[in-house]
Amino acid sequence: MALTITNLSKTYPNGVQALKNLTLTIPNVMFGLLGPNGAGKSSLMRTIATLQDPDEGSIDLDGLDVLARKDDVRRILGYLPQEFGVYPKISATDLLHHLAVMKGITNKGERTAMVDAILNQTNLWDYRKKSLSTYSGGMKQRFGIAQALLANPKLIIVDEPTAGLDPAERNRFLNLLSSVGAGVTVILSTHIVQDVRELCPRMAIISNGELLLEGAPNDALNSLAGRIWSKVVASDDELRALEANFQVVSSHLVGGLHEVRVFADSSPGDGFRSVESDLEDVYFINLARQGKR
Ligand code: ADP
Repeated sequence: MALTITNLSKTYPNGVQALKNLTLTIPNVMFGLLGPNGAGKSSLMRTIATLQDPDEGSIDLDGLDVLARKDDVRRILGYLPQEFGVYPKISATDLLHHLAVMKGITNKGERTAMVDAILNQTNLWDYRKKSLSTYSGGMKQRFGIAQALLANPKLIIVDEPTAGLDPAERNRFLNLLSSVGAGVTVILSTHIVQDVRELCPRMAIISNGELLLEGAPNDALNSLAGRIWSKVVASDDELRALEANFQVVSSHLVGGLHEVRVFADSSPGDGFRSVESDLEDVYFINLARQGKR
């Protein structure tokens, strides 16, 4: 399903403008919504998930008016919020059955088949009888996906799902998400560039409630080809001098030394080598462009 978001704006009662006239089309793929903390990602996700209304704008899901027909949207939606927070002292099986009943799956045989299949798919089968309160962070997130998969959703929204997971848990979680299947639109909201690089054929970058870029990660990378330069600098003074004269995209410590990446049409000077652009460059360059406006 394709989602068309048009001129969406939202200002909270405290005056924070979380969404500023945002227009974006999300096609039927795994779509990465990338942005720093406070960008407006959760506000957008909650609005699409029919949990809050915008001040202005519209959202269309293959002809369905999302803001007007919330019940219809909820029937085809799977949502893993940023703070799922519900890990009571009952088993995964029992809670999934309970949530499936609430989603209208009243036939016990149908429900059991669905819950069992989802427990297998999310690798929770062996732990299905254990209390959710004893689950690790990674297991909780997999349970979060399990509940989002109930009732065969056509649109799945996952909000910052990998924050707080260790590398192995994160890997397992991303593999699970990528297996969710064709025909389903998945919106993955994250501030972790790597999540988008690994999973998403299309992406958008938002910051301060505005859309900065929308497209295929590969196209964004190609647009920077030959213009990213790297060097390990010898001192903090050299780093400061570079920052004063060039667009330093990022600076990482490697073995205690600063490795800088500079965005420039030609080599910034001695010792720089041309390197492949990565999605983090795209991300930082777009955020910096916004900052300069
Ligand atoms: P993200 O998910 O990208 O971190 P959010 O949508 O959570 O961004 O927040 C966008 C901005 O709106 C932030 O400045 C945040 O503090 C503010 N905000 C979010 N929710 C509320 C709320 N319920 N009331 C007031 N301000 C909010």
